[in-house]
Amino acid sequence: MKVGIIGWRGMVGSVLMQRMRESGDFDGIEASFFSTSAAGEPGPEVGGKREPLLDAFDQEALRAQEVIITCQGGAHTLEVYPKLREAGWDGYWIDAARALRMDSQTVLILDPVNMPVIHRGLRDGVKTFCGPNCTVSLMLLGIDGLLKADLVEWVSAMTYQAASGAGARHMRELISQMGHIHAESARLVEDPATSILDIDRQVIDSMRGDGMPIGELGVPLAGSLIPWIDQAVDGGQTREEWKAIAEGNKILGREARPIPFDGLCVRVGSMRCHAQGLTIKLNRDVPLSELEALVDGANEWAHVIPNEPEATKAGLSPAAVTGKLDIPVGRMRKMHLGPEYLAAYTVGDQLLWGAAEPLRRMLVILREHLGR
Ligand code: NAP
Repeated sequence: MKVGIIGWRGMVGSVLMQRMRESGDFDGIEASFFSTSAAGEPGPEVGGKREPLLDAFDQEALRAQEVIITCQGGAHTLEVYPKLREAGWDGYWIDAARALRMDSQTVLILDPVNMPVIHRGLRDGVKTFCGPNCTVSLMLLGIDGLLKADLVEWVSAMTYQAASGAGARHMRELISQMGHIHAESARLVEDPATSILDIDRQVIDSMRGDGMPIGELGVPLAGSLIPWIDQAVDGGQTREEWKAIAEGNKILGREARPIPFDGLCVRVGSMRCHAQGLTIKLNRDVPLSELEALVDGANEWAHVIPNEPEATKAGLSPAAVTGKLDIPVGRMRKMHLGPEYLAAYTVGDQLLWGAAEPLRRMLVILREHLGR
C-alpha cells in the first residue's frame, strides 16, 4: 500500500511519526514523505531507508498514493485536495486539519467512540476521514460509557486548554513568559524577608511591562489565562466552543438528534494536556457507582480516578497525563442541582488522542478493511 505522509515534521506530525514507529505501522506499507518547503532534501529514516522528500504540491506525486495522511494544515489541504479529487484521484485522504471536517462526504474519526460510523462510511465508499478537534475527542473518550448507555441529555464543558493547541511557537512563548517573570522576581523570591505583596507587584509589573514576550499569544498566559480560543462565531461563541456541538454530534453520527454540548473554552498555562470540567445532565437518575463503572468499562483508555484528594492530585493533572494515551476521569459526584446532574473532570494529552492517534489508527482500520 502506497502511503504519502505530509506534515510529518510539524508538532502533530512528529507525534504521529513517533506513534507509527512505536506501533509498527510502517511495516507492510510503502511510505513516501512530502514537504511544502524542502522537496529534494533527505526525508526521515524509516526501515533503514532515507528517501528524498517529495513536493507536497506535486499533483502527480500525490496522485500516485493510495492513501495520504496529512498533518500539514488546512491551507495546504484546501490548495491540493480539491484538485486531486477533480482529477479523479479516489485514494483515501486522512487529515488532521479542520478544513474538510464538516463536509458531508467526510467522516470524523475517533474509533473507540464511533467505530460503527467509520465502518458504515467505509462500506458506503467514503474516502475522506478527518481527525476531530482535540477538546471534543478528549471529552467524548472520557464520557464514552455514558454516551453508549444513552444516558446523556446535555453536557456543559468548561475547558482548561494547553498552549500546544495553538502551536509549537505558543508553547515556546509560554516557557519564555515563565522565565521572564521569574528572572525579574527571583531576587525578591529568594529573600525570605520580602513581603509577598512586593513580589506580587513585581510579577504583575513584569507581566504588563514591555519585556514580556507576547508576540504569539498576544497577552500573558504564564501567571494568567485567556478565556477566548479561535475566532468568534454566531451567538457569542468562539469557534472552539462551537466545535463541541457540531463536531461532537458528527463524530457520534447523531446530527439528526444532536446532544447539546456547550461551554466556555479557556487557554491556561499547561503545555500539551487539555482538561475539562463537565456538568452532565443525565436523562435519568442512575447511581454514581453504576456511572463510574460505565465510564471505566467503555474503552481501554478512559478510567476513573476516585474522588479523593491524593488520587485526584496524583492522577488527574497535565503533569501526570502528558505523553500517555490514558484519559483519566475523576471528581465524579452527583451535584446539588439534582440527582440527574453529574460533575466530572477529565484530562488528556491533546497531541495523542487529541490529534495524532486517531489518524494512525484510521490507517490500521483501513488496512484491515481492504485486507492489505
Ligand atoms: P505545525 O507544527 O506548525 O506544522 C505544520 C508544518 O509547518 C510542518 O509540517 C512543516 O511543513 C512546517 N514547518 C515550518 N517550520 C517548521 C519547523 N521549524 N518545525 C516543524 N515544522 C515546520 O502545525 P501542527 O500544530 O502540527 O498542526 C498541523 C495541523 O493539525 C493543523 O491543521 C492543525 O489545525 C491540526 N491540528 C493541530 C492540533 C494541535 O494541537 N496542534 C490538534 C489537532 C489538529 P514542511 O515540512 O512542509 O515545511
